[in-house]
Amino acid sequence: LVERMREFGETIFAEMTQRALAADAVNLGQGFPDTDGPAAVLDAAVEAIRSGRNQYPPAIGVPELRAAIAEHQLRFRGTTVDADTEVLVTAGATEAIAASILALCEPGDEVVVFEPYYDSYAASIALAGAVRRTSVLRFPDFAVDETSLRAAFSPRTKLVLLNTPHNPTGRVFTRAELELIASLAIEHDAYVVADEVYEHLVYDGEHLPIASLPGMAERTLSISSGGKTFATTGWKVGWVTGPAALVSAVRTVKQFLTFVSSGPFQPAIATGLRLPDSFFAGLRDDMRARRDLLADGLADLGLPVSVPQGGYFVVADAAAWGPDGLAVCRALPEQAGVAAVPVSAFLDDKTFGATLVRFAFCKRPEVIKEGVARLHKAF
Ligand code: PMP
Ligand code: GLN
Repeated sequence: LVERMREFGETIFAEMTQRALAADAVNLGQGFPDTDGPAAVLDAAVEAIRSGRNQYPPAIGVPELRAAIAEHQLRFRGTTVDADTEVLVTAGATEAIAASILALCEPGDEVVVFEPYYDSYAASIALAGAVRRTSVLRFPDFAVDETSLRAAFSPRTKLVLLNTPHNPTGRVFTRAELELIASLAIEHDAYVVADEVYEHLVYDGEHLPIASLPGMAERTLSISSGGKTFATTGWKVGWVTGPAALVSAVRTVKQFLTFVSSGPFQPAIATGLRLPDSFFAGLRDDMRARRDLLADGLADLGLPVSVPQGGYFVVADAAAWGPDGLAVCRALPEQAGVAAVPVSAFLDDKTFGATLVRFAFCKRPEVIKEGVARLHKAF
């Protein structure tokens, strides 16, 4: 293995899901829903397969998905994108993130990223030979720390990798925070890559796309995915939107990573993106109730809990269960019959969250209740 990839072993999600299966544990670790998404979306995929849409789709994505992405952005973000030049369909948000960094960063360029960060960020930055510079979000509110953010920028900053709503913390960045990030990006003439896969999962406040702030559209690539919104994480339909020149650069890289992917699932996600507003509101309300169920359950255990404003996860401080969150999570499936993920897996500086543990609530209410009941029994 090349040196720059040696710090990356098996992902924490794979490890904890394996432990969950081995111990027959309730899996509140890896973030995937345990029920299927809307029937209309599933039916559209079956229909696409049955009607023979099983060969390579067009390199930039099937036309109806690109059109649906453009319509969806107009409906929910109020922004206009050209479906032919400013939209690129990818193999999930994961590929969109990797291809964006590979397209924009020279070896040695610096990428500003907030820690804890989603695990693929560090690996994608390393693949590009770029250098990550982190700014910490601290438990329990996970607000942006202006001092640490300013310190993360330098004359070598090429790109800011932003994620809101944020995984693992559930933080929804405020307008003031996004304006600070935007002003620093403009000052350093840096690009912003905005991972917005949880854009429809906001429970308090509102999702604000950084691309919509003044001076940002021309330097921002916005990324989303059908996985979370339509509970189809295995389909890996993602997309990136932004200025034509930047999207074209990402496309050049993407061609040689996967070329294309998810043929029949692309028209199905187009069907999803065109669902009425009531679907998206219902999803949010349903997930908010699950968040409350899990956050209240963990708080009842006596753990300090950060109630997330968005996303799939609740972070709690499990110091009462042990001094090392990774060790706690490795033992938890056997010990309590529950799987979770240590926040330290998303940190460079473990001192900011050695005892923090992430629990997923994208599960059926009875599964969340069972998980909480098992934790009550064990602790
Ligand atoms: N970004 C974040 C913040 C995520 O949480 C995830 C999925 N867990 C991804 C990207 C990956 O999305 P996809 O499955 O569409 O590649
Ligand atoms: N994004 C999901 C999570 O944060 C898992 C994705 C994965 O397994 N790579 O749990």
